[in-house]
Amino acid sequence: MKILPDLALTYDDVLIVPQYSDVPSRRKLSTQTKLTQKIKLEAPIVSANMDTVTESDMAIAMAREGGIGIIHRFMSINEQVHQIARVKKAESFVVENPLTLTVLHTVGDVKKIVEETYTGGILILDGGQRLVGIVTTRDLLFENDDSKPLSEIMTKEVVTAPRDTTLEQAEKILHEHRVEKLPLVDKDGKLAGLITMKDIMKISEFPKATKDERGRLAVGAAVGVKPSELKRVERLLEAGADCIVVDIAHGDSKLEIDTIKQIRKAFASAQIIGGNVATAEGTQRLIEAGCDAVKVGVGPGSICITRVVAGAGVPQLTAVINCAAVARPQNIPVIADGGIRASGDVVKALAAGASTVMIGSLLAGTDESPGLLMTRKGHRYKVSRGMASLQANVARKVREGEGDITQEEIEEYVSEGVEAAVPYRGSAREMLSQLIGGLQSGMSYTNAHTVDELYEKAVFVRMTEVGLIESRPHDVDVM
Ligand code: IMP
Repeated sequence: MKILPDLALTYDDVLIVPQYSDVPSRRKLSTQTKLTQKIKLEAPIVSANMDTVTESDMAIAMAREGGIGIIHRFMSINEQVHQIARVKKAESFVVENPLTLTVLHTVGDVKKIVEETYTGGILILDGGQRLVGIVTTRDLLFENDDSKPLSEIMTKEVVTAPRDTTLEQAEKILHEHRVEKLPLVDKDGKLAGLITMKDIMKISEFPKATKDERGRLAVGAAVGVKPSELKRVERLLEAGADCIVVDIAHGDSKLEIDTIKQIRKAFASAQIIGGNVATAEGTQRLIEAGCDAVKVGVGPGSICITRVVAGAGVPQLTAVINCAAVARPQNIPVIADGGIRASGDVVKALAAGASTVMIGSLLAGTDESPGLLMTRKGHRYKVSRGMASLQANVARKVREGEGDITQEEIEEYVSEGVEAAVPYRGSAREMLSQLIGGLQSGMSYTNAHTVDELYEKAVFVRMTEVGLIESRPHDVDVM
């Protein structure tokens, strides 16, 4: 046995010392950062892979605001793939499978589709899937003969673009030709997708959105370490997952390291996040195994009882400082996972060296988390539960069709998480706006113009418990 000489600290043990600041407008400060070596985010916030936090609705909201969501793994492979697909379809500027009819269809057919789908224009193909025309609602005006073939009324000169057209190129073409729809075609003239002005306008509603190279919202997916999980990884990557989080409670383990190595070998270009660890040595081992980012946190989570049950863990601020000290020089971002209760904790985590924070319970209380909004004693709340809680494991078994948990399994299960009510907190967008606003304020107090500068310039001061009391509203009746 040995005792480490240094006292380990967490967020509430410290404050960041204010410094002379030349920041003119804190709201304009960039909060750009990296999730992994390749994935850039405008907002350093990641929603946790928990079944009460991140499924597709949360992931869509997170990506739109410049963060990212990690879809949890407590569901079948098919269901997780479906969740990824929903995110990928949410805001693409390219419609992959646009509505089409053939030249042999009639005016009656097209009228029916327009009525049912409110689509303003249908693409017309010949027998070989080649694009030969477009019928818009304008072409249908005063067209009373429903039996007429579409070849007689369609507009034949269609402005098209190649399959790999970028957003900027598409905007230019649509503007130059004053058209609303831009079909994409491959070398043989076969239809390969559709870009519409409407979809492009929708995109500009969320200028900070995290996107993949095809303009779709970015999303991550969690996997475990069983040998069968390699199949899950393959399907998730096929579905478009932008990163894979190999997520187990004790990530500094042979199981985790072997799994990361296998994924790295099978999918060379995949962005892999490993975790969780709480030490410099553990971080180094995950980096050597092939990670593109390391998730840090053993025991800080709001619903976590690991430290109570196992007596193991490291207070989170010290864990982040130690892990980031190893990861940053190797250009590997650290994700500070768990224990974030307010925007001040986000500032402290990033000042300690993390590039992003992962958040569970704060987001579990928002509209976009799975689960129902409930009312108790006049207060609205939702549920947050640890993935190592008995309740989450019962839910997983039922969801994956493995049947109910037996009495024996219940008795043997050693829970490391609890289920809890969390206050309802409005939309994820509002929550993120508060967190980012607080982060920008913290950056301004530190005279940091970027997230990296926050790490370089921050000076922490330790405080006593009395200092903590002074730091919160005190001696008043908060309304
Ligand atoms: P929170 O933001 O404080 O609620 O922490 C969320 C984090 O807690 C997650 O991202 C996980 O790392 C961790 N966590 C989730 N479930 C459990 C559990 O059952 N036991 C311990 N930690 C958990």
